[in-house]
Order: sequence, then C-alpha cells, then structure tokens
Amino acid sequence: MNNDLKIRVFIFNQIEVNTIVLYDDTREAVIIDPGVCNFIERQQLADFVKDNSLKIKYIINTHPHIDHVLGNGYCVSMYKVPLLMHKAGIPVYDRSIAYGAAFGMDCDKSDFPAPDQFMQEGDVIRFGNQELQVLYTPGHADGSVCLYSPAAGCVIVGDVLFADSIGRSDLPTGNHATLIESIKTKLFTLPETTVVYPGHGPTTTIGSEKRDNPFLRFLTL
Ligand SMILES: [Zn+2]
Repeated sequence: MNNDLKIRVFIFNQIEVNTIVLYDDTREAVIIDPGVCNFIERQQLADFVKDNSLKIKYIINTHPHIDHVLGNGYCVSMYKVPLLMHKAGIPVYDRSIAYGAAFGMDCDKSDFPAPDQFMQEGDVIRFGNQELQVLYTPGHADGSVCLYSPAAGCVIVGDVLFADSIGRSDLPTGNHATLIESIKTKLFTLPETTVVYPGHGPTTTIGSEKRDNPFLRFLTL
C-alpha cells in the first residue's frame, strides 16, 4: 500500500462536466461534482466504484451549477454519505430545478438533496490517507471552492480556471473582478508544478496558466 492519490475523471451530461473520483489504496474515496444525468452514466460511475471496491466517504460540489450537481440525489441515495458544499452556493442550488428545465434536463426535487455539511475556507477534508484543503474562490459563482492536495500536488478547481481560459462571470452571482482576485490570491500562489483539474476540459498546471493563459497574463507581466 502507498499513499498516492488516484484520480479518475469522467465526462458526464450534455454540458460535459468533469466528474472526479479521488481515492487511494485504502479504497476510501470522494466523488466531486457528480454530473450523471441518465441510466448509462449512473451505471458507469457505479461500476467504477464497485470494480475498484471503493468506499465513498463524501459527495462534494465545487459549486452549485446544474451540470455539477445533477447527480447529487443519485449519489447520496446510492452511497448514503454526507453531501458537502459551501453555504454561499445555496441560493443558486435551490434553483436547480429551474436551471435544469432551462437545459431540457429531466430532474426533480429528489435530485437535489440539502447538503449535510458546509465547507469553508481553511477546512480540511480527509479520506483514506488523503487531505484536501478547502480554498474559497468566488467569482464564477458564489459558493465556489477549490480542493487542494499539497501531498499529491494537484488542485480541483471547478469552473474557476480552465486550460487557457477562466470561468464565466456573466451567470447569476458571477463577478469578473472577484474571479480574478480568487485566481490571483488562491491559485496562483500554489506551486507552479501543481496539476489543475478543471470542471470542463483538459488538465493543466498552475505554471502553464501563469505563462500562457490569455485572460491572466496581465497578472504576471
Ligand atoms: Zn459553473
């Protein structure tokens, strides 16, 4: 047995969200942003958990947007574990049915159970031999958090930062200046080798986004 963090990324629902399963050799695991939207995607996630004998400890939302929370009800009822999110995301989360309808998603109240615990800046989430530090990073949406593993050298960022792009700030509770401040103070202060797992699209690193991200180059000039 070693302490290495293992990471599996699935792409779910029509908005192509990255649903991330983190686990290690203890088999304890967390599911981040469960975006499963139909039987096939639910089965794909459940099979992975079963085939790897994973024991899910938490379901975690990086932020309350519909594509990231669509599978909350399924995962909570399947694994009977706490759902974690940031309290500031609740007003948007409570409108999930309306947002789902706007995207033509087939969802109802049971898909969006109330969170069991709130995360806030400075919290540490533990599973197996892993520790995730909670960074509060609003700007894309209120209640946006990033989850940083110093030991594994990686950070799960939701829709705050993407490879060569940044999160939208034109959606409800978005704010461009706040987003830039979150990236500058919470993400660009991490080691440059830190691997970034965004909520959509490919992985990147803090160093490469500092050098090449056209939306953020002004921060490092
Ligand atoms: Zn989002």
